[in-house]
Amino acid sequence: MREDKRGNQIAELRGSTTSELSSWDITARTRVLGVIGYPIGHSLSPSMHNAALRYLGLDYRYFAFEVRPESLGQALAGMRAFEFAGLNVTIPHKTKVVEYLDELGWEARVLGAVNTICPQDGKLVGHNTDGKGFVRALREDAGVELRGKTILVLGTGGAARAVLLQLAREGASLVTVAGRVREKASNVIQLIQKACPTCTARAVELAPATLQKEIKKCDILVNATPIGMCPNEGSSLVPCEYFRQGLVACDLVYNPRRTLFLQHAGSRGAIVIDGTGMLIYQGAIAFELWTGKAPPIEIMREAVIQGLA
Ligand code: NAP
Repeated sequence: MREDKRGNQIAELRGSTTSELSSWDITARTRVLGVIGYPIGHSLSPSMHNAALRYLGLDYRYFAFEVRPESLGQALAGMRAFEFAGLNVTIPHKTKVVEYLDELGWEARVLGAVNTICPQDGKLVGHNTDGKGFVRALREDAGVELRGKTILVLGTGGAARAVLLQLAREGASLVTVAGRVREKASNVIQLIQKACPTCTARAVELAPATLQKEIKKCDILVNATPIGMCPNEGSSLVPCEYFRQGLVACDLVYNPRRTLFLQHAGSRGAIVIDGTGMLIYQGAIAFELWTGKAPPIEIMREAVIQGLA
C-alpha cells in the first residue's frame, strides 16, 4: 500500500475493487471541500471527511490546502471563483479570514473567529462549530449535561473562548477561566458576559494553589491549553492529586488521545473525555452545513482514530 503525502485516500483507493473505484470516481460534477491552514500536513480532516463522504456515496472530495498567511485573500477569492462547496479554516487563519467573508453566524461573530465557511446564496458565510462540537462530545459520547454545572476552563486562547461561550449558552451556572495572563482572562470573561448575560463568568490565576481550590468546587474541568500535546506528552497543568471521583475531566488535546492530564484524572476515578470527540463533532456540524446530510459519526471517528494510530 502506498500513502500519499496528505493522507490515506490513495492507499484506500489503490486497495479497492474496481466497482468501489468507479463509485468513487472524480467526475465533472464532483464538488470540492477542504481545509486551509499553515502548516496543514498534520490535519486529520481529509481522512475524516472523505471517509464520511465515501460512506454516504456523496459526490464531493475534501482536500488539505496549505495557504501561507500572505495568500489568504487569494485563497478566498479562489474559493469563490471555483465555487467550492465549503472550507474548514485552521491555524493561523481563523481570525484573519473574517475580513474576507460576507456574513458570520452568531458564534463566529461573537468570537471573531471562523472554522467553517459555507457558500450560501452567492455569499460566503463564516461559522464557528468548535464550541458546539465540544458540547456534543460531552452530551452524546459521555451523557454529560451542562445545565446548572460549574465549569473550570484552563487557557484563554481560541479554543477556550469557543468552549466557554457554548458552555455559557447551554446553561452552565458558573464558568471560570484560568489563564496565565490576567488581562487575557478578563477579556474572555467580558466577551462571555456580554454574549450570555444570564451566566456568571469569572477569571482566576493559573497557579497551583488557585487550581487546587477551584477544582474542588467544579463539576467539569477542561484543559484548553496545548500542554500535554505531542511531542510534550510528559506534561500536565494539573497534579494527579487534584483530581477526584465524579469530576468530569476533558482535554481538548487529541494527540495523544490519553494525555497525562487524562491519565491522572482516570487514575483518580474521574470521568475522562479526550479531544477526539470535539474534533469529530465540530467536523460533523460542518459536514451537515455543506452537504445537508446527517454525518456518519462512527465512520468519522474510525477515520480519526486510524489517523492518530
Ligand atoms: P491558542 O489560541 O494558542 O491558546 C493556547 C492557550 O494555552 C493560551 O491561553 C495560552 O496562554 C495557553 N498556554 C500555552 N502554553 C501554556 C503554558 N505553558 N502554561 C499555561 N498556559 C499555556 O490555542 P487554541 O487554538 O486555543 O488551542 C488550544 C489547544 O486546544 C491546542 O492543543 C489545540 O490542539 C486544541 N484544540 C483542539 C480542538 C479539538 O477539536 N479537539 C479544537 C481546537 C483546539 P497565553 O495566551 O498566555 O500564551
